[in-house]
Amino acid sequence: MPEGLIVKALSGYYYVQDAEVGSLVQCRGRGIFKKRGESPLVGDRVVYSNTENGEGTVEEILPRQSELIRPQIANADLAVLVFSVVRPELSFVLLDKFLVHTEHARMNALLVFTKMDRIPEGAEGESIRQTVEAARLLYSSIGYQVVLTSAHEGEGLEQLRSALAGHINMLAGQSGVGKSSLVNALIPGLKLETNEISVKLGRGKHTTRHVELVAIPGGGYMADTPGFSQLDFGELGIDEISSCFREFRELPSSCKFRGCTHTHEPHCAVLQAKERGEIAESRYNNYVSFMTEWKEIKRRY
Ligand code: GDP
Ligand code: ZN
Repeated sequence: MPEGLIVKALSGYYYVQDAEVGSLVQCRGRGIFKKRGESPLVGDRVVYSNTENGEGTVEEILPRQSELIRPQIANADLAVLVFSVVRPELSFVLLDKFLVHTEHARMNALLVFTKMDRIPEGAEGESIRQTVEAARLLYSSIGYQVVLTSAHEGEGLEQLRSALAGHINMLAGQSGVGKSSLVNALIPGLKLETNEISVKLGRGKHTTRHVELVAIPGGGYMADTPGFSQLDFGELGIDEISSCFREFRELPSSCKFRGCTHTHEPHCAVLQAKERGEIAESRYNNYVSFMTEWKEIKRRY
């Protein structure tokens, strides 16, 4: 039986893009899914069969790598985190916060710095360039790919395109950083939906708009709704924050104490690595401030 990818779900139909020929087949789900409490999601890779009326039936959901709730999507594996270098300016705090959330969702992250064409001449521009270069070096050393772009002048778009190929990608980033402009440059015709995923209908009934996957010319898919719009740490456990810092998690040695908070404990591998200059001050400081923020949130609950 053929396999495909669910790219859209609407009114009880799943739109399956065939893995081999690329055609779009409108499918119903098997009745058994409901009984089992399973529900196919956009992003699911499925086995389907063709029915006589030219439609199809989703027969089986192949094992899911991941599942996000906002937007509801399966198997999104690359978070495309967008930051502008000017207006709004690059914030390492926000960047690290997004990374905590993508790590927690078990997604890899790609950092895209936009509006490179907007860096002014002169001393101010020089200092922005230095910040951008420092960020590029820091985050690539941790293992994140960084792409510098200008949607207006086309800089970096080919590099971005090849980084997205082969993945189910989801954008994230503050409003105004240039997400829509990037998408327009990469996928002509796609209108990016806003973060507003809940639409009020009639008497206060809420319905969630389904996310849709759009094929990117050059390979891969892009979710048409950005993710990680809520960046508080309420859903994380206290010891999960440090494991969302990739370079803490991947240290060759471990801390002496289990449950080490990496703040004051003796024989702490993170503190030692920071002393040796192997963990950046900005990353460590953001970690500490996120822990404080986490405690604030928990106190309010
Ligand atoms: P979004 O809210 O993240 O989707 O951001 P938009 O794509 O709507 O962009 C916000 C503003 O930044 C718009 O006025 C864009 O024209 C501008 N912008 C986006 N990308 C670039 C770029 O690469 N260069 C310049 N100069 N402006 C950009
Ligand atoms: Zn420690």
